[in-house]
Amino acid sequence: MALDTAAVVAELRETFASGKTKSYEWRVSQFKAIVKLTDEHEKDIIEALRSDLNKPEHEAFVHEISGVKSSAKLAMKELRRWMTPEKAKTSLTTFPSSAEIVSEPLGVILVISTWNYPFLLSFEAVIGAIAAGNTVVLKPSEIAPAMSSLFSKLLGEYMDSSAVKVVEGAVPETTALLEQKWDKIIYTGSCKVGRIVAAAAAKHLTPVILELGGKCPVIVDTNINLKVAARRLISGKWGCNSGQTCVSPDYIITTKEFAPKLVDALARELEKFYGKEPLKSPDLSRIVNSSHFNRLTQLMDDKKVSGKIVHGGQRDKSNLKIAPTILLDVPADSLIMNEEIFGPLLPIITVDKVDEGFNVIKAREKPLAAYLFTNDKMLKEEFIGSVSAGGLSINETTLHCTILTLPFGGVGESGMGSYHGKYSFDAFSHKKPVLQRSFAGETAARYPPYTPEKLRFL
Ligand code: NAD
Repeated sequence: MALDTAAVVAELRETFASGKTKSYEWRVSQFKAIVKLTDEHEKDIIEALRSDLNKPEHEAFVHEISGVKSSAKLAMKELRRWMTPEKAKTSLTTFPSSAEIVSEPLGVILVISTWNYPFLLSFEAVIGAIAAGNTVVLKPSEIAPAMSSLFSKLLGEYMDSSAVKVVEGAVPETTALLEQKWDKIIYTGSCKVGRIVAAAAAKHLTPVILELGGKCPVIVDTNINLKVAARRLISGKWGCNSGQTCVSPDYIITTKEFAPKLVDALARELEKFYGKEPLKSPDLSRIVNSSHFNRLTQLMDDKKVSGKIVHGGQRDKSNLKIAPTILLDVPADSLIMNEEIFGPLLPIITVDKVDEGFNVIKAREKPLAAYLFTNDKMLKEEFIGSVSAGGLSINETTLHCTILTLPFGGVGESGMGSYHGKYSFDAFSHKKPVLQRSFAGETAARYPPYTPEKLRFL
């Protein structure tokens, strides 16, 4: 039977109109349900992530399960404060008066989620929508089918199904959902589909948050603690879903002289983490499906770069696994330097002086994240002041996204809008200004007839 998306939205509108999702108590009850569901089904969540991505249990727990619980608990703790109207200063024109900003829910939210952190990224958006007092439809990614069906089962069981619904499906179902009028859409995924979502939303003047991707660069200076830098680069690249992470380092820029030392350090630490036969390591996620596997092997086998592999390069099609692979001095016009890699391949490009790296980054679209490893204060300042990206980390990779007091989102081609913590609450609220006056404070100058005397008075 065809999906009746109009009926789904109509039911959620009715629930929203009843006013129940606006109460503090209802919102908190849904956060508690999320924590309970996560605690009681931890094994099922880990199993779904293993089935969809062969995600190691450690990564499933640290990156997804504890991330969701932290967000739900933070919302529970801070919700009263977030919901409290914010006082605003008034002007002489309205004296005497008071003003405040009231956060009002938008209505019905559509969350179109992705497959690489399917549990975390879906719930992160749902938590924000609920925190602000909205009803919500979650469309999980069909590319992570085990997690998609787990969502469908568990949300129905634990959450208020008159206000929070899961619609499973692929392109036809998403297209049908996008025909409806929503009050806000949050989409996580590729730029290509981001454009489809934005165009569909524009028909209804629906605002969108687009959480997209891009090529996240890393500049590596020479005066660093090389071992620590190598470990943090590995953690952000291969320790995050085998590089299938929107903020994973995509490519490195360093000096010609330093590059061999960096390659050696990365190779040494990689062997410590994943052994001599990384394809057999249980700690390395697999590639999500054969089409992404083929895309990645084509990037490696491209004539322009195949001779540039200086570490790794092994693959196992039967298990969809690719070993951590480093490529040195790939040409700027190679395929690998012109699309988001989103996998375990790490090209290094070299420059004469490290600060030339800034121009390499600035010549490209704005990435979702950019990283710098250095001890040089001037370089850090130039990086912060001149590199535009969704977010920056210095001497670290990926971890800025885990800090819930920081907004998370892209800029330019890497997306629009941001969320996480209070920023999620704000993203799914309308900030309604309210002015209040008594009947005092009348001035004749405000009203016609506009005589020259009145103008002088003003
Ligand atoms: P995708 O864009 O193909 O799919 C994501 C969602 O879009 C799915 O729910 C899917 O059903 C839907 N979809 C796909 N094609 C559609 C169409 N034609 N019409 C309507 N809906 C459609 O996802 P992908 O490309 O596999 O994801 C990888 C990308 O996502 C990378 O670029 C990555 O950087 C980005 N990403 C960004 C974030 C972030 O938070 N910014 C997080 C994860 C991934």
